[in-house]
Amino acid sequence: MKCPYCGYLESKVIDSRPSDSGDLIRRRRECLKCTQRTTTYEKIEEIPITVIKKNNQREPFDRGKIRDGLLRATVKRQVPTDTLEQVITDIETELRNQFKNEVNSRAIGDMVLERLRDIDKVAYVRFASVYREFQDVDEFTDELGRLQKAFSRVHSTS
Ligand SMILES: [Zn+2]
Repeated sequence: MKCPYCGYLESKVIDSRPSDSGDLIRRRRECLKCTQRTTTYEKIEEIPITVIKKNNQREPFDRGKIRDGLLRATVKRQVPTDTLEQVITDIETELRNQFKNEVNSRAIGDMVLERLRDIDKVAYVRFASVYREFQDVDEFTDELGRLQKAFSRVHSTS
């Protein structure tokens, strides 16, 4: 976003809110050079989300990456592709609704897990073992235990 006062290319966002029409985001930006403030209206889907990886590297939010993880976790499980796409869309929508420009990869992993838990427990455990990078067998067993309890609760009440 080029500063209209001095032409500098970098600015920081100081406020974001949806416009009345809902498909645009109204942003207040402050030029990093001359600190003049401008208001921009940006299309929601055009605002990039940056993912901060564990090693602090940043990369653009990528549906394909989440899809890869989901496909790996659901190998030989009966989970329809549509369901997986819906999970990805849900997560993307949630991030955009939070107006976050940056998100930790860990937070995305947690969002995936939250949804997978209700979809397929085997896929959930597979995904969790990759994303949570369990430190040891105990941690993994604990998670499994929690999962089994949650699962039996669901089944005893239904
Ligand atoms: Zn400026």
